[in-house]
Amino acid sequence: MTTRSTTPRPAHTWCPPFPVTGNELQVGGVAISRLAQRVGQTPFYAYDRALILKRVQTLTEAFHGRIAVHYAVKANPMPALACMLAEAVDGFDVASAGELSIALDAGMPPARISFAGPGKGEAELSQAVAAGIVVNIESMREIVILERLSQTMGCAARVAVRVNPDFELKSAGMKMGGGPKPFGIDAEQVPEALRAIARSGLAFEGFHLFAGSQNLRAAALLEAQTKSYELARQLSQHAPSAPRSINLGGGFGLPYFPGDQALDIDTVTANLLSLADQAARDLPGTRLAIELGRYLVGEAGVYVCKIVDSKVSRGQRFLVVDGGLHHHLAASGNFGQVVRRNYPTAIGNKMGAADVEEVSVVGLLCTPLDLLADRVVLPRAAPGDYFVIFLSGAYGASASPQGFLGHPRPAEVLV
Ligand SMILES: *Cc1c(COP(=O)(O)O)cnc(C)c1O
Repeated sequence: MTTRSTTPRPAHTWCPPFPVTGNELQVGGVAISRLAQRVGQTPFYAYDRALILKRVQTLTEAFHGRIAVHYAVKANPMPALACMLAEAVDGFDVASAGELSIALDAGMPPARISFAGPGKGEAELSQAVAAGIVVNIESMREIVILERLSQTMGCAARVAVRVNPDFELKSAGMKMGGGPKPFGIDAEQVPEALRAIARSGLAFEGFHLFAGSQNLRAAALLEAQTKSYELARQLSQHAPSAPRSINLGGGFGLPYFPGDQALDIDTVTANLLSLADQAARDLPGTRLAIELGRYLVGEAGVYVCKIVDSKVSRGQRFLVVDGGLHHHLAASGNFGQVVRRNYPTAIGNKMGAADVEEVSVVGLLCTPLDLLADRVVLPRAAPGDYFVIFLSGAYGASASPQGFLGHPRPAEVLV
């Protein structure tokens, strides 16, 4: 259970990338009220195509093709969005057979899809081998199963070894490597796994490292990337063949909360380019890759709901909306956060209005956890107005308990 922050609250430094015309927020060039009519319901998520493509393009241009940019589908598996990104990024990382079918339907070539996650099922592994994608091996068990499947199906499974590094990512929102972890194979056991892969006749593709998510400190990311590269380079000496790819992970964070500073991306890309230079010397023929989820899509998405009630309880005004944590768990502070903090929000059809009222915005679920904005200052709003939560393009609809309390699901549009 998260605690509610009571300390004086700093302001959001994040500035919404959406233009405002009249009093209306524009997403994908459409005013929010018109978009709601077009969707035909609230609540809904809307993702701005141009903003997503611009984010990808900025990165791929900085890399000049020397570092592959992969999209982690779990951040937002909406099929239309995956189709769009299949044309824009170098690869997809999936975490289930369900995401695999989204990636294949989106047209991503199988050789550029990789599959990570602990506890992969035999049926999922069989689908992965049949599809010809790369399986990121997370345990010795997977090697045994993949050897058997390769023999039965008459094609060698393509595998990369996911390494649980011997260091931790400093200051990550979610640590996923270093120390005892359920993810990947401990670095010290990787040579043994590589020997087993060679014996089993699996097609070795390379290494995958993922130190953690939601990091806003460039210095911490630099250290993790550099150490990850160095570890993969050392482990390559034990590999059955030179790695074709070393996936250094990602973990680029977004400034969701008041006081958060945006990641200094130029420093991070410069370091990756210098690692690509090193790789060209140490391991010719090996391509470096990174995998990003929220950084590519998070800022381009909004969650929009309609205000259905406005009431005062002992001096505090509550706006009740037709959505809630069952659609947007993260904004309620219950998706892994330790302290509950507010996402940036707005009244989408009253953007020009002065901020006049301190309100709390709650969803329609009958639980005190369903708090979407805690004592924020917003323009005076009434039933029928649109409450917008920014930074909602990643870990929204698919990362929320939509069945909880049995209300309808949110719509999703790519505009
Ligand atoms: C979740 C995950 C990602 C994406 O994380 P973001 O914080 O959204 O960038 C990438 N790689 C792996 C292995 C993951 O589990």
